[in-house]
Parts: sequence; structure tokens; C-alpha cells
Amino acid sequence: MSNPLPHSLERYSRQVRFAPLGAEGQERLLASRALVVGCGALGSVIANTLARAGVGKLRIVDRDFLELNNLQRQVLYDEDDVAAGFPKAIAAAERLKRINSQIAIEPIVADVDSRNIGPLFDGVDCVVDGTDNFEIRFLINDAALHYRIPWIYGGCIGAEGQSMTILPGETPCLRCLIAEAPPPGSTPTCDTAGVLGPIINVIASIQSAEALKILSGKQDATSRVLTVVDLWENRVRQVQLDSLREIDCPACKRGEFPWLQGERGSQTAVLCGRNAVQLSFPARQELSLEDLAARLAGTGQVTRNKFLLRLAVDRYQLTVFPDGRAIIAGTDDIAEARTVYAKYIGA
Ligand SMILES: [Zn+2]
Repeated sequence: MSNPLPHSLERYSRQVRFAPLGAEGQERLLASRALVVGCGALGSVIANTLARAGVGKLRIVDRDFLELNNLQRQVLYDEDDVAAGFPKAIAAAERLKRINSQIAIEPIVADVDSRNIGPLFDGVDCVVDGTDNFEIRFLINDAALHYRIPWIYGGCIGAEGQSMTILPGETPCLRCLIAEAPPPGSTPTCDTAGVLGPIINVIASIQSAEALKILSGKQDATSRVLTVVDLWENRVRQVQLDSLREIDCPACKRGEFPWLQGERGSQTAVLCGRNAVQLSFPARQELSLEDLAARLAGTGQVTRNKFLLRLAVDRYQLTVFPDGRAIIAGTDDIAEARTVYAKYIGA
């Protein structure tokens, strides 16, 4: 017979009895802090898994709000969340608190960029990628190397996905693997190629397992290969990364971090699969959604909650956040989106 567990570990008994983790690993998990960047498809599964496993503090950052077509793969949310029109980070935190009330959940509604990534990384032991584009992944890579925090890359398109664990100073980094982001329009996106729910669960689960190893102090058990899975072609590949060690990588070898320094990366983004453009305005003063709603009365249909304001006008839907950031749906043209923003919100 095994010894009874202390009460505080009882809810985690099944994973504590998994010998490579054990009670000591669980104690370390409970004292650990993780950042999940993006709480869409991958981020939903990652946050859910880490919360249930007892990661002591989970910081979740996401810039977006929920839409009905998210529910096919974003497992933290339901139709009520879509109807409430909440940002994903807020809806995720509400759900995660019901799943595990004994850990701390810190939701942050923000577009991660070179100015706010430092505070987001502050005090965390591991960063997990739940994003959907390379611009932000290169920023995460820069910041992870600079602050020397392990991070776990994951990405999916169609029925294929891949994951890689980056331990600064120890393993190749994302820029060793991919020197430059592919130009917009040159690669398939979730708009053109779609994405299947099961591949999200596979890749996010691999990322979560890697995070649990790092957060429980079992970093030596992490994967040192790039794992590529295709659930439609029924293929699993493990790509050795040893040859990448020869590369004179600008990031991990030469210590150049242009994304972190704000020299790379833009403040506008066409949102994948959404016919929508995001505009953000660095260093702008907070705006009052209440005042804005009053100003917009009569221009179109205005709805508002604590976190965002929405204006439906002509063929556009504008979603505006207190920091002035806006998502303009109804176009994928940046100039057109700027015009619409200037017309209703102000330049
Ligand atoms: Zn590198």
C-alpha cells in the first residue's frame, strides 16, 4: 500500500502517483508560474491542462473576443460565452476558476508587442505559445532568449501541426529553425487551408506535457526534436535539430533581438481567417467606452460591456477596446480599416 497523500495534493493524486513526477514534482508545479500567450485554439487546451494539473499561477494574455466559429476547436468556451461577447482572456479565466479554484489565474486583454512583453514575462518560469502567427512568435523567441525563460512553440494548419521546446542557452531557438517569417500571402493560413480540431488537441497536449516537465523541475525530460504530426496523412515525424547548432543564428548566437527592440513587427495585422484587420495605437491614452458609446449613438448599432464596445455600421463591425485598439471586421484591407476607424473612432 502506498502512503496516503497530504490533503493538499489529493486532487492531483493520479499524476502524483506517476513516478517521474511524484509528490515533489507536484509541489514544484503548485509553486510555479506560467504564461500562456494567446487563448484561442492551442491556448484553450494548454490553459485547461495546466490549470487542472495545478500550475500555481497562470497568466493568460489574449487580444481577441469570441466568435461562434471559434467553438469548433477552442475547447474552453461555449455558446453562452459567445453570446456574452467577452474577450477570450476573460471568458477563459472565468471557466478556469471553476475548474481549479486553488490556483491563481491572471487574465490580461492585450495585444502582445515589444512594449508590454517584458512585464508579461516578469516572474514566469515557462512561456507556452498559443498564438497563430510568426510575428509574435519571433517576439516571444527574442524575449525568451533575453530573459532566459524556456518556451514551447506550437503551430497548426489543416490537419498538420508541429511543436518544439526552446531552452535558452541549451537548445536551438525558433530563428535557428526558421530564419525569417514567410511574407504575408505566401503560405497557407487557417483562412485558406482551414484547421481540424483534433490536431489542435494533439499539438497543445505535447506543449502542455513539455510545460509540465519544465514547471515540475524535470527539464531534462523535455523533447530535443521538432515533432511534426499530420492526422490526415497519418504521419508522425521527429526532426533532429543537431544540425541547427552550426547556424550563426542572429538571435541565440549573436544576441540580436529586433522584435524585442521594436525594430521589427507592425502595429496593424490582418487577422487570420476573419476578414478583419486589427489596428493598435502605442502610447495612446485610455478611452472611455461610455463616452464613445454616447458619441456613436445614431451612427449604427452600438453594444458595450465592461471590456469592449461594438459598433455595427454599413458592412463593418468595429470592436474597440479601452486602450484604443480596434478590430475592424468586414474588410481585410488595412487602408480601408484605417479609414473606417478614423471615420467613427477618430484618427
Ligand atoms: Zn537560434
